[in-house]
Amino acid sequence: MDLGTRDVKPRLAPEHEWESPMFDLAQQQFLRAAQIMDLDENIRDRLLYPQRSLMVSFPCRRDEYSQVETVFGYRVQHILTMGPTKGGIRYHEDVDLGEVAALAMWMTWKCALMHLPYGGAKGGVRINPNELSRPELQRLTRRFTMEIVGMIGPDKDIPAPDMGTNAQVMAWIMDTYSQQVGYPVPEVVTGKPIVLGGAVGREEATGRGLIYLVEEAAKHQKLDPADATAVVQGFGNVGRNAAIYLAELGTRIIGVSDASTGIYNPHGINLSNAIKYVEQNGVLKGFNGGEEITNEELLLLKCDILAPCALQNQITEQNAEHINCKILAEGANGPTTLEADEILTKRGVFLLPDILGNAGGVTVSYFEWVQNTQEFAWTLDETNARLREMLVSAFNRTLMRSERNDVNMRMAALIEGIGRVAEAKLLRGIFP
Ligand code: GLU
Repeated sequence: MDLGTRDVKPRLAPEHEWESPMFDLAQQQFLRAAQIMDLDENIRDRLLYPQRSLMVSFPCRRDEYSQVETVFGYRVQHILTMGPTKGGIRYHEDVDLGEVAALAMWMTWKCALMHLPYGGAKGGVRINPNELSRPELQRLTRRFTMEIVGMIGPDKDIPAPDMGTNAQVMAWIMDTYSQQVGYPVPEVVTGKPIVLGGAVGREEATGRGLIYLVEEAAKHQKLDPADATAVVQGFGNVGRNAAIYLAELGTRIIGVSDASTGIYNPHGINLSNAIKYVEQNGVLKGFNGGEEITNEELLLLKCDILAPCALQNQITEQNAEHINCKILAEGANGPTTLEADEILTKRGVFLLPDILGNAGGVTVSYFEWVQNTQEFAWTLDETNARLREMLVSAFNRTLMRSERNDVNMRMAALIEGIGRVAEAKLLRGIFP
């Protein structure tokens, strides 16, 4: 391809600007895949950094009127080649530019792997949402929306929930954006409440999608889910729903956890009791349906299916040798490091990598956006049937690529996603 001569070497971003273990992981994964694919150097350099990054600081007034806090927020659009950009907004006390950039890059590969007409984006605000009252959360959300209002839009960039945000936060974003333009624009965000144009099934879609994929992986591994045991790390939206749908298949859930504790019960955890307990107490700690263990111990439990559905950087070279599962089903983004990947692959663990494993969320987001633009609503059965069909074909594409290129499922999924974006970039050429 002709993207100019290599004499004018692009000045790549200074290291410190993006210094972050998560962005480093995303870049290293990409570079490894690029090498296997023998990707054109110019294309490689264009995909290595986000196309647009906005970093803002803004005031957040607490309920105590005189108390005003300066808060940092980000919106990163990785690639604008494929259509509008798409990706969640995360509220977490550790969010930084590198983390948001990594998540945006993964959104690009995820959308491309799923054949969705989007590039990847992500947003984040460095705040602990659990420490905010509801009015504080609303003010923070509205002000952050105004800070990024020029960047988002139904044909530009469409936010959605991620860690620490939910349908209510999306409703406030939708309202703030609509106030600005002067008419209602439901399709500016996905993951909204149903009465505002949210799609039925969107809230559970990430957990549900992960388990549709576990069913495919289990077939491939000749494992009967009804005879299997599972451990789920994380009891938020993704982990909780993944556990529920696994239990519906007859799988015995022997371990669950949240940030407060892990719970282990070899006879199976009663999920509805655990959910009730968390609804009443806010956290799993103190739940008497099993033995309390740490999150580190939880990951090492012997089981058939291990589903990390919490934070990044959980399975590393420190614990990968001791992970004791047949299928690793990643609901979280970036839970496994590259070094750990190698160890797990050598040990024969079958991987459902994050960009495939948690793609159910953005896929039903896409359904929501399509329904909004057509002012038409699908039934839950229609949504789930289409979700399963799209995930199963992405699974098959990834498995075939993995066999053809003799790479693990993560590299295969990356190659599928990157290949599609690279092809689109070549076809569009360079302006001017
Ligand atoms: N935040 C979710 C993800 O990481 C969903 C994004 C979306 O629905 O746009 O995939």
